[in-house]
Amino acid sequence: MKFDYKKSLGQNFLKDKNIIKKIADSINPTEEDLIIEIGPGAGALTKELVKKKSEVICFEIDTRLKEILEEINSEKLTIIFKDFLSIKINEYIDQNKYKNLYFVGNLPYYITTAIINKIVKESNPYEITIMVQKEVADRFSAKPGTKDYSSISIFLQYNFDIERVCNVSKTCFEPVPKVDSSVIKFKRNKKISANDEEKFYKLIKDSFTQKRKNLRNNLKGYDLNKIQAILKKYDKDLTARAEQLSIEEFVDISNNI
Ligand code: SAM
Repeated sequence: MKFDYKKSLGQNFLKDKNIIKKIADSINPTEEDLIIEIGPGAGALTKELVKKKSEVICFEIDTRLKEILEEINSEKLTIIFKDFLSIKINEYIDQNKYKNLYFVGNLPYYITTAIINKIVKESNPYEITIMVQKEVADRFSAKPGTKDYSSISIFLQYNFDIERVCNVSKTCFEPVPKVDSSVIKFKRNKKISANDEEKFYKLIKDSFTQKRKNLRNNLKGYDLNKIQAILKKYDKDLTARAEQLSIEEFVDISNNI
């Protein structure tokens, strides 16, 4: 395709038909659902998504893609030329109209976390299928006690089941980026709930403030005696580091301090 790709917008377009098909095949909405694609680019994936049973709404920041995207002829498709991060989802989508929301995106990696946070904050996603740098996929699905386990792993695993759809070699894109990618899927599945989620998210963030430091150091402003008593149940104490605690243990602390 002849196009002046903008690096600053993360414009590496998918050209591998097998990968495009694999992503599309992993998304199976009904007529009552809605697909929201963020960053359709030249529409490689969009063309497959409009073959699904549901409507599709796309948000693309680059108006230079207008002509190319408007060539996709489908009554089910709405394209909105806006920065997804600067809009309010509710202003564009009547969420009550749909049973389940399926988010899909192949976006610049530096905004992945901001996009996921926004989706979770402003909507109740049924599924989020997203292309990320391979190492980021490892971090998202990391388990306690491993070096990749961080506050974002806990935030995501608290809200979703995480599944890897496929790994994607850098040669599947045009232009070819520096790193390999993975497509991962977050599926809504809350197995355990904190009584106060804001408090729970803050506790996690504070616990990981300095990764090398233990809980006693990172949680100085908290009632450490109470936390110590809860940790004792799990044969742990304040010398533990945040990366050693499971989601259930964080929920227990958050609910009881
Ligand atoms: N989905 C297409 C594909 O797979 O071929 C394009 C992927 S490309 C990696 C990322 C796309 O996201 C680009 O088209 C870019 O213009 C768009 N984009 C970047 N930042 C965005 C934002 N904040 N809101 C909406 N779209 C954005």
